[in-house]
Amino acid sequence: MKRREFIKKAGAGSLLLGGALAAGCRQEGGQAGKTVSGAPAVHTQKTIHWKMVTTWPKNFPGLGTGANFLARTIEEMSGGRIKVKVYGAKELVPAFEIFDAVAEGTAELGHGSAYYWKGKNQALQFFSTVPFGLTADEMNGWLYHGGGMALWREAYAPFGLVPMAAGNTGVQMAGWFNKEINSLDDLKGLKMRIPGLGGEVLKRAGGVPVNLPGGELFTAMQSGTIDATEWVGPYNDLAFGFYKVAKYYYYPGWHEPGTTLECFVNRKAWEALPKDLQSIVWNAARVANQDMFTEYMAHNNDALEKLVNEHKVDVRRLPDDVLAKLRKLSEEVVQELAGSSPQARKIYESFDRFRRGVVAWQQISERAYLDARG
Ligand code: CA
Repeated sequence: MKRREFIKKAGAGSLLLGGALAAGCRQEGGQAGKTVSGAPAVHTQKTIHWKMVTTWPKNFPGLGTGANFLARTIEEMSGGRIKVKVYGAKELVPAFEIFDAVAEGTAELGHGSAYYWKGKNQALQFFSTVPFGLTADEMNGWLYHGGGMALWREAYAPFGLVPMAAGNTGVQMAGWFNKEINSLDDLKGLKMRIPGLGGEVLKRAGGVPVNLPGGELFTAMQSGTIDATEWVGPYNDLAFGFYKVAKYYYYPGWHEPGTTLECFVNRKAWEALPKDLQSIVWNAARVANQDMFTEYMAHNNDALEKLVNEHKVDVRRLPDDVLAKLRKLSEEVVQELAGSSPQARKIYESFDRFRRGVVAWQQISERAYLDARG
């Protein structure tokens, strides 16, 4: 080996060692970091143990199983160098406290959705879903190839978190109601569980939006604490048994056309990883992002058939004029959000540029095809 190459390699090695020594992660065995060396000395590396806290009930279809899938994929892709233990909501911290728990280092990973953290920063809602906004495929296009991901990272940086897309529900259902929705007036005074920007739109329509974790919705409906609820779609809503407490199941999910689920990593834990493990975690999240969407695609229709045929649920489409009015209110809400801070404006402009571009293409691709297929 030429001397210059040797020095280069030694330099790189010592940088890796420095990074490993700075690791904040709990390491198995003797003195942390002492035997860690640069790649490819995989066998000498200590196992990194991470905790993943989630906003979902443990093992809940799609969402909880998506978190499990991500944990398992990180472990498999890393050859067991990272092990992730998944905690359901309330097992380690309550559902809506996972953001702070990961920021503070109580856990290294969180699995939720960005609109739950609007109290931290309104602009974060763009990274979950926007009423009448992007579908799942479009969201992924914006995030991975349209500048969205860089903006998301920038928005989470002040909290010491590194975000990743880690799942998508596809188009949701509008929700469960115990009365018919024939006009916008039917939403007046309605106390409904609906998070994020959709909740703001409901408020403008005269309703009363509340946000509750998924695991509390059935009881809230049963006891009459809320009059109506949205959750996700047939696959998840069947699992919660909402057909027992509500008569009408309305579509389409105008408020959540393709909700992105997230995984966020404590920044210190992230920075302590060597580059190959960072790539593994990032790419495991990309796989999990796609896998969850395909899980919903595979199971929603079966669940819908069960709801209709076995449980006799009345599935209805929201009237056109109700959707048109909700769309107008949504535009107002999103415009106000865009005006709420320079950061929100910047994210909105990127999102909106992408949306306008993709609408023209979707007209002659997905929409044209689905119309033709019938
Ligand atoms: Ca929802």
